[in-house]
Amino acid sequence: MNLTYDTHIQYLKGVGPKLGDVLRRRGVGTVGQLLEWFPRGYEDRRMVRQIASLEADQVVSIEAVVQAVRAIPMGRSQKKMYEVVIGDSSGKIGCKYFRIPYRGYFERFTPQQRVRVAGKVTFYRNHLQFHHPDIQPIYPEDEGAAVDQLIPLYTDTEGLSPAKLRKLMESALGELVEKQNVITEVFPLWIREKYQLLTRSEAFRQIHMPPSDQSEEFLNFRAAPQKRIIFEEFFWLELYMALQKQGIKRENALPISGPGKLARQLEESLPFKLTEAQKKVFAEIKIDLREPHPMHRLVQGDVGSGKTMVALLAACLATESGIQSALMVPTEILAEQHFKSAERFLAPLGVRPALLTGKMTAKEHAEIRGRLAKGEIDLVIGTHALIEADVEFARLGLVIIDEQHRFGVEQRTKLKKGTSPHFLVMTATPIPRTLAMTVYGDLDISIIDELPPGRSPIVTRRVFESKRDTVFDFMREQILKGRQAYIIYPLVEESEKIDLKDALTEFDNLKRKYPDLIFGLLHGRMKSEEKDAVMNEFRAGRIQALVSTTVIEVGVDVANANMMIIEHAERFGLSQLHQLRGRVGRGAHKSYCVLMLGYAVSEEAVHRADVIVGTTDGFKIAEADLEIRGPGEFLGRRQSGLPGFKMANLVRDLPTLKLARDAAQELIRRDADIKASEHRLLKEALQQHRKSIVG
Ligand code: ADP
Ligand code: MG
Repeated sequence: MNLTYDTHIQYLKGVGPKLGDVLRRRGVGTVGQLLEWFPRGYEDRRMVRQIASLEADQVVSIEAVVQAVRAIPMGRSQKKMYEVVIGDSSGKIGCKYFRIPYRGYFERFTPQQRVRVAGKVTFYRNHLQFHHPDIQPIYPEDEGAAVDQLIPLYTDTEGLSPAKLRKLMESALGELVEKQNVITEVFPLWIREKYQLLTRSEAFRQIHMPPSDQSEEFLNFRAAPQKRIIFEEFFWLELYMALQKQGIKRENALPISGPGKLARQLEESLPFKLTEAQKKVFAEIKIDLREPHPMHRLVQGDVGSGKTMVALLAACLATESGIQSALMVPTEILAEQHFKSAERFLAPLGVRPALLTGKMTAKEHAEIRGRLAKGEIDLVIGTHALIEADVEFARLGLVIIDEQHRFGVEQRTKLKKGTSPHFLVMTATPIPRTLAMTVYGDLDISIIDELPPGRSPIVTRRVFESKRDTVFDFMREQILKGRQAYIIYPLVEESEKIDLKDALTEFDNLKRKYPDLIFGLLHGRMKSEEKDAVMNEFRAGRIQALVSTTVIEVGVDVANANMMIIEHAERFGLSQLHQLRGRVGRGAHKSYCVLMLGYAVSEEAVHRADVIVGTTDGFKIAEADLEIRGPGEFLGRRQSGLPGFKMANLVRDLPTLKLARDAAQELIRRDADIKASEHRLLKEALQQHRKSIVG
């Protein structure tokens, strides 16, 4: 039987029913899927070193014996890390693992066993170590492998030895490439020539069976076959984005083209002057809104840059043209805060705002919905859930999405009712510019790159637990001067009881310790009425110090609060710390943010805290975050709506990303609907990839 790309993996020589199951569990159901299982790296056997000769930052390979395997508990969670100590005649070295590939993985290793370890040597706390090196038992069948080869390394899989997997790859390549050459080339000639791409088939062959003379290139993912695959992965994403954008431009929307008198009145009624950046961004929005095609614009602005006001200005333009707006926010606290701003600033100008929240009665709901349907409300403010639900509008033309970078194209499209509304998406999570164009490829981007004047800088410090009393005494001083404070506790998952207990216990401790201060408590498990009551008390200054979990994170704005203490700061991500800190420094008073670190924190956690101490520039923090965590975790698939790449890496492969974007745009310029016969295979492939992009 002749195999093809889509042949069931079971038919590949060497794959029995048992191995077939193992492969399917890894997502490999066909021969093609096997070939798309790319090596996560390579090992150059010529780099074999003696342990005593290792130096920091070298990428090496070692043959040694296991001396000890230890499981080390991490903190109070159930998690463990593992250390495998290996030795050769010259010395020994530890291999540390913070993740376990699969259950029983480390139990495979026993003292005296021969292993091969490949990875980068790290200098950590005065020792050389490996962090997450590749470690494999040396199997008898492997012993003969040529020593001068570049060996692909695949993700560890239970029930499948690396040597066996390499054999399967060879066999699949033999069938599909050597024997028949049936791997479809999806790119037309003009793309392959212009970007000097290998064929798909050749790329697969070399990736799994690398030539031994290009070790440097392969190790760094710069070899021609790797470039071809990386280009292709980016290309699907870029083409998808470009088509989305083209599709949006073809939709019809209600043009919002009034003279802008209402917005001017709003501007004049404000107790402050708009910043130049706010004006510039509003001007960009205004131009978009005049079009009979929907705007899809992202406003990026650091915390406190005044995005809400830009949104209210846009809503005024819509109202003036007799068009309704909806403002969607992630939390009810935020919905209420925005509603208050709308009542304060817009209602006097005759704009009719309304609030739609989960705690309103069915009757109140029905009433608001009725008024929306009759066009008696100009701006409705609520959480995503509420507005996504079947609310009818008389003439909805503008949807504003606040504090939400997790809102992909598909979700936006779902919101459409009748003609497409204009979309304004606002986010305070800065994304390094280099990434923004891809993550938000279907949106036009405006940046508010200036903070309102008169904000005093925030003094940020990191301290260890031992300084706790000093910190809280300082907080008390600030409060006695009339200020207010936030004390934040981590709550990773709303359901983690231990975390909640921390906040509750500390709330009690603080009340006892500082009986002269008024504390409040806020956490995600409270009913929304309770939360509101607390927030209102805090806003009114009747609560002086608010003990809170991260429900406070987004958007909340209380100018008199000038101090924030973040407990267990090591458990927060960089951008989250930045968001949290953005709650202070909003008034004229000097502000303070204290990052409290637990005792046993990693150097990485200290380093993270230092990044926050070192700058308040959200973009710089985002860059650092990206560097520390890498793009996968930085963006997170769900968060970003980006597909998981098999080989491409958004940071490492940026130059290739740009080429892929150019190619996608040129394709649409040449063939807007991708109808040409030379693009037939490409179109078919796109349809398949679309599924993986949309998810
Ligand atoms: P964010 O961009 O984080 O959403 P907000 O819109 O909540 O910021 O604005 C933060 C605070 O700054 C609010 O109290 C708002 O009224 C105020 N503000 C907005 N624009 C200006 C400005 N141009 N000058 C002074 N204060 C402003
Ligand atoms: Mg905001």
